[in-house]
Amino acid sequence: MNTTGNYKHGRYSNNKICKICNKKISRSATHCGSCATKIQIKDARNNPNWNGGRIISSNNYIYIHIPEHPFSNTLGYVAEHRLVMEKKLGRKLTSEEVVHHINEIRTDNRIENLLLFKSNSEHRKFHSGFVKYIMKNYQNLVQEYVKNFIGEKYELYSN
Ligand SMILES: [Zn+2]
Ligand SMILES: [Zn+2]
Repeated sequence: MNTTGNYKHGRYSNNKICKICNKKISRSATHCGSCATKIQIKDARNNPNWNGGRIISSNNYIYIHIPEHPFSNTLGYVAEHRLVMEKKLGRKLTSEEVVHHINEIRTDNRIENLLLFKSNSEHRKFHSGFVKYIMKNYQNLVQEYVKNFIGEKYELYSN
């Protein structure tokens, strides 16, 4: 749930900070991403239509309220995709393990859409490897995508 802001980027070039944790935030925000999520969770719990603990966070992950789970966050929530993976493995995930959504849809927590990595560095390797693989093997598609997106032909570098 951490938000890594690019502080050199224009939208952070002001002195606005999160009232709760003092992190720099964008001009239009009232709190940083992780504090905003916590506030959202508190509000959801105080809502008379409280649905028993399944919420979608502001960064689009589904969380389930299970305070007794050893890795629940400070508000007692666990990410649903991690619970789905734990159920398949029959054990708790370690805090180092990362669960990735294959189709990049964070609310699609079907087990066939989830991949387990033993650490975040393995997870990041997967992402950068994936991009390299696509760039190398699907050059026409990449060029077509770039052309449609920015309206220019893109010359792929070769190395
Ligand atoms: Zn904050
Ligand atoms: Zn991922």
